[in-house]
Amino acid sequence: MARIVMKFGGTSVANLDRIYNVARHVKREVDAGHEVAVVVSAMSGKTNELVDWVQNMPKVAGAASPFYDAREYDAVVASGEQVTAGLLAIALQSMDINARSWQGWQIPIKTDNAHGAARIQEIDGTEIIRRMGEGQVAVVAGFQGIGPDNRIATLGRGGSDTSAVAIAAGVKADRCDIYTDVDGVYTTDPRIEPKARRLKKIAFEEMLEMASLGAKVLQVRSVELAMVHKVRTFVRSSFEDPDAPGMGDLMNPPGTLICDEEEIVEQEVVTGIAYAKDEAQISLRRLADRPGVSAAIFGPLAESHINVDMIVQNISEDGSKTDMTFTVPSGDVDKALAVLGSNKEKIGFDVVQSEKGLVKVSVIGIGMRSHAGVAATAFRALAEKGINIKAITTSEIKISILIDGPYAELAVRTLHSCYGLDKN
Ligand code: ADP
Ligand code: ASP
Ligand code: MG
Repeated sequence: MARIVMKFGGTSVANLDRIYNVARHVKREVDAGHEVAVVVSAMSGKTNELVDWVQNMPKVAGAASPFYDAREYDAVVASGEQVTAGLLAIALQSMDINARSWQGWQIPIKTDNAHGAARIQEIDGTEIIRRMGEGQVAVVAGFQGIGPDNRIATLGRGGSDTSAVAIAAGVKADRCDIYTDVDGVYTTDPRIEPKARRLKKIAFEEMLEMASLGAKVLQVRSVELAMVHKVRTFVRSSFEDPDAPGMGDLMNPPGTLICDEEEIVEQEVVTGIAYAKDEAQISLRRLADRPGVSAAIFGPLAESHINVDMIVQNISEDGSKTDMTFTVPSGDVDKALAVLGSNKEKIGFDVVQSEKGLVKVSVIGIGMRSHAGVAATAFRALAEKGINIKAITTSEIKISILIDGPYAELAVRTLHSCYGLDKN
């Protein structure tokens, strides 16, 4: 007997038939004698609809602030998961399975106070463990917890993955299965590159990079938690027949295992390609080249919670002036320009230019640590396709390249094939 946490994402619970199908996956594990907790997302599209409602509430004419109360945002957007948790409990009960739904505050899943992007601080697994011991299935609403202000807090988009891994750690589960609409983690997004291959295993560090560089198959925070708490996490499909052979395999279920790099026997140089759309570039021209200029630019941006990513600095020929170029999410450009404008005197630049709709493509692999020439291969392949590179950043295990938006798919496919990641 094992203790298993099963998480089902939006497309897996998109309607009543899909929820019934999820119940069949749960029944398989219950019938095998395992203790089961389930975490659900909202029906696909639901959270977007709720977010739109919050953002499009009509304002009193002349009202100054475009902002809204983040605590009420959370009260609204957390509701989608409450619906699916209740519905799944009903479906399970109809199969004679003892089940009940849980909201974050009932467990409780305690978070910090960052409404809209809260982090889980503590989960008390005692009651869930006791009830699982009595044969009851816990159906937990993902994406939500309760903050120190005693109000609902949500975990950021894609946060149900994090709920699942955190609960798995909290109840000391043997395994956490993230069920989604693909049957594992691929060498790149299979929707963009049909030749992408499913990985049997991927190292925590690589999955962290893939997720933070745009592969939304797992939320970044869920990978961090799995790594820290050593949760045995699989990504697998809810769209396969719940009773197909092998689906109930305890040690090696079908899907991708996220694991320590030591567990991976045949480590390739490059493991995967990720991409992030909606990046924007801001350039400050003819800055004075003196100590403190970077602090004058990036200090106020950080204070305004604007996430700056790639930074490139060019010195003018005579060495007296410099240009600074950096990227931010497209949605933050207007805010960033306003912050820079109000600090123009202090920073001391001539002009500021911006460009939206760019894409960051990234090559990821632990094997890069010990191989030279990986970046050169990417640059050559992109050049052959006539794709212009606007900025580059690298770390030990990744190379990120900023390009024009319309080239995104071509760049992903080009990089995918230049490292031989295509299906044989
Ligand atoms: P869920 O609703 O189940 O949480 P998501 O839409 O958040 O599902 O994540 C699954 C999607 O992630 C897939 O449909 C796929 O298009 C996308 N994806 C991006 N990169 C990858 C990758 N490397 N491997 C697998 N899926 C990926
Ligand atoms: N429903 C939330 C979202 O769409 C959380 C999740 O699905 O993981 O972001
Ligand atoms: Mg998701």
